[in-house]
Amino acid sequence: MSAVKIAAPAGSLAAVGFDPATLTSGDLESRSPIDGRVLGRLASTSRADYDATLARSLAAFAAWRAVPAPRRGELVRLFGEAVRRHQPALAELITLEAGKIGSEAAGEVQEVIDICDFAVGLSRQLYGLTIASERKHHHMLERWHPIGPVAIITAFNFPMAVWSWNATLALVCGNPVLWKPSEKTPLTALALHRLLESVIAQFAEAPTGLSALVAGGRAVGEWLADDARIPLVSATGSTRMGREVGVRVAGRFGRSLLELGGNNAMIVAPSAAEDLAVRAITFAAAGTAGQRCTTLRRLYVHETRYDAILARLKRAFASLRIGSPLAADTLVGPLVDRQAFEAMQAALAAARAAGGLVHGGERVAVAGHEAGYYVRPALVELAAPIEASARETFAPILYVFRYRTIEDAIAGNNGVAQGLSSSLITQNLSEAETFLSAEGSDCGIANINIGPSGAEIGGAFGGEKETGGGRESGSDAWKAYMRRQTQTVNYSSTLPLAQGVKFDVE
Ligand code: NAD
Repeated sequence: MSAVKIAAPAGSLAAVGFDPATLTSGDLESRSPIDGRVLGRLASTSRADYDATLARSLAAFAAWRAVPAPRRGELVRLFGEAVRRHQPALAELITLEAGKIGSEAAGEVQEVIDICDFAVGLSRQLYGLTIASERKHHHMLERWHPIGPVAIITAFNFPMAVWSWNATLALVCGNPVLWKPSEKTPLTALALHRLLESVIAQFAEAPTGLSALVAGGRAVGEWLADDARIPLVSATGSTRMGREVGVRVAGRFGRSLLELGGNNAMIVAPSAAEDLAVRAITFAAAGTAGQRCTTLRRLYVHETRYDAILARLKRAFASLRIGSPLAADTLVGPLVDRQAFEAMQAALAAARAAGGLVHGGERVAVAGHEAGYYVRPALVELAAPIEASARETFAPILYVFRYRTIEDAIAGNNGVAQGLSSSLITQNLSEAETFLSAEGSDCGIANINIGPSGAEIGGAFGGEKETGGGRESGSDAWKAYMRRQTQTVNYSSTLPLAQGVKFDVE
């Protein structure tokens, strides 16, 4: 592997109009997972600044909700164009700050562009219903109105895409947005947000304060969760975080949209196409160094295919090119930090102690990047689920099980607390339809002949159970960002009452 010199992020920040000289002090430190070097520092938002930001956001709401939705879409269209122009610089920042390989970082920026396009179309399709009234000369409507400031709390592993799924929809729906990015990826957020600010500044109908970034850790996230002025908090991250945010927001009767941890499974059936299966498994389990919410973590292989598939996987995992994500031939970049590495090693130790057979999983030395945490993705053969395989460890560990009947495999797929994504590799129509039926996968996402990761923006994204139940991105996910109003209009001069109620007055 060729040695790679880390580029200072100055170039990519300056490319989006940010002065890197302003990023040298403050309590938030951005460290590159590539080699642990500090990329920049900035200060957390103070409580006073937070309150001032909220006041601007509320004022912006009063103006923005009155702007016609297609004009709001035009703002998002211009933002999408700006992202297109800056795609390489934004992708470079994702690589530097989150450690993604080049094609995955560019793919994440592409997702931002795609959801902008989706939101522009949506801005002319915020459809309501007309409903037949039981009363003469009456009609009923269901209409969708803007809801108010939307808080968006995001995780480190999709430092741009997740915000964009929320922000673009919230904006066309008539709401201001407030973004609290992960404390591990503040520069990426600053750069993308700076682009939106520059578009807002040139868009006459867009009020000041329409979009804001509040930087900080958990405490700033808690301000958002507790703030009754914010009707919707969309929070992406661990189940631990969602459990706390969900309770806080519910306690003030706010609305939360939770996108939390996954523990995703794949079933490889007797009829599975082997090459397809091996490629799908390897990308879904080892890609992004196992740091996707949809990463494949549990594999159920039919007993007749187990030995052959496992042999292929061992070879594939052993040959993965691990190293700096700045090198063009790297497939697996670093874990985000030391804690992620330690959590991975602890899970592997627990699996060994429980009788699991572990292949790989060791730290990999990458010359010149000794402070980075690079690992060989691990395969763990297990006879039955254990405590470690029942939870999400945010690292590339794939637990592998044999199964005998499709019913057993589906029960295994569903037998965890999380419910994000799932997949089945088969050529058997009956198995495929069973997996997709009400008796099949209990997850928010169910795929046939592809892995559980790499969703498109056109579908609603999210999961059940401890994954939080939220849906973002495509389909009708936009409804979460609006309030529904049922309207009844009487165009007669009499007043018939519903359900035939009589209430005659003199
Ligand atoms: P994390 O839970 O540590 O942090 C996520 C965000 O929540 C950060 O911005 C953090 O500052 C904030 N936060 C933490 N505690 C909080 C609290 N009590 N109140 C308010 N805010 C709080 O997650 P992470 O390590 O950054 O990301 C990895 C996790 O995110 C994994 O579990 C992964 O599966 C999940 N994830 C889920 C999805 C999805 O769509 N379901 C997408 C990406 C990541």
